[in-house]
Amino acid sequence: MALIVLVGIGIWKTSGRVDADRVAVVRQCDRVMGTDCRLIAVVPYGREATAEDALERAEAMLRALESRLSTWIADSEVSNLNAAPAGKLVPLSEGSIEILRAAQRAWQQTGGAFDITCGPLVQLWRRAGRRGVLPGQSEIHEARKASHWKLIELTDTGAVKHSAAARVDIDGIAKGYAIDRAADILRKAGLRGGLVEIGGDLVCFGQPPEGKTWPLGVKDPRGQGKLATLRLRDEAVCTSGDYERFIEIAGKRYHHIIDPRTGRPADAVPSVTVVAADAMTADVWATALSVLGPEGLRRLPEGVEAMVVVGTADDRRIFCSRGFLQRLEERPDRIEVVE
Ligand code: FAD
Ligand code: MG
Repeated sequence: MALIVLVGIGIWKTSGRVDADRVAVVRQCDRVMGTDCRLIAVVPYGREATAEDALERAEAMLRALESRLSTWIADSEVSNLNAAPAGKLVPLSEGSIEILRAAQRAWQQTGGAFDITCGPLVQLWRRAGRRGVLPGQSEIHEARKASHWKLIELTDTGAVKHSAAARVDIDGIAKGYAIDRAADILRKAGLRGGLVEIGGDLVCFGQPPEGKTWPLGVKDPRGQGKLATLRLRDEAVCTSGDYERFIEIAGKRYHHIIDPRTGRPADAVPSVTVVAADAMTADVWATALSVLGPEGLRRLPEGVEAMVVVGTADDRRIFCSRGFLQRLEERPDRIEVVE
């Protein structure tokens, strides 16, 4: 999750008039999915009521999805699945099944780097972070044994676990899915343009409050300022990083993203930013490239573009796909294209 700062957002005050023919209505939602959330509707001047109504329905959608998908809510569908014994069919809503099926495809596409069945490993490292003690080799071995798609069977109405210890962690895909559903509501409301942002991951479409494309700043993972500025229209952008959520043990920082191939936190990629047609795809690939590193840029599906930052503040390198470079308005001083 990273701060994708809307350059110039300060000028887009709630229903403040910007360009002669349109106005932006901004809705700041309190804590959605444990982080900040902002919705923007751009309408012809005088149509603010349409904007307010659409923003209200979009926020309601986000809250409804959070109550179903959150592993931070004890009685959500996904928490029920994680708590279920082996062999029991746990009923899931269509949206949850759609997310799990998309996650399974992503697991194949990313060669196992994106793996929602790594819940036991995520829990192990979060617990280690709370205790301040590194997990032992045998604990990692046990958690890896419980983290595999062969232990989760999807059906048309739900899912069955083939081990009580198996648990899914959809935090790397569900936020993107929710952003897409909320953006669907704004798109259908007949707005000039709109934006749905949760924790820096976002979809923007149509006309921004001013100009033709949405100016989006990518945060420098090791500094205070911006690393780059993107110009997007009708696309999603998601960032994964190790500087907002991480585990600290004995003064060393560990990424909150796990490399399922080792059972240990990914360690070489402080920040990945991905642009795609939808937020769920961008969300998945931001997590996956945090594991795969720059080499993963060669795996990107058609239409998915990315920038990968590796190394430390003083000896870092930045890699990107050709399409990502073309979307940059302001580039980092050194950036290498991987074809
Ligand atoms: P991403 O890269 O998008 O996701 C990383 C997360 O995915 C990790 O934190 C881990 O959970 C999981 N993961 C780790 N390794 C892998 C891997 N190799 N493959 C796949 N997944 C992996 N946070 C709170 O603090 N409080 C809340 O109440 C809360 N509620 C939430 C409710 C929902 C429905 C969701 C989806 C998330 C919620 N979160 C909450 C988590 C938070 O919103 C972010 O989703 C989380 O930090 C991951 O987003 P990210 O973009 O930082 O990292
Ligand atoms: Mg993400």
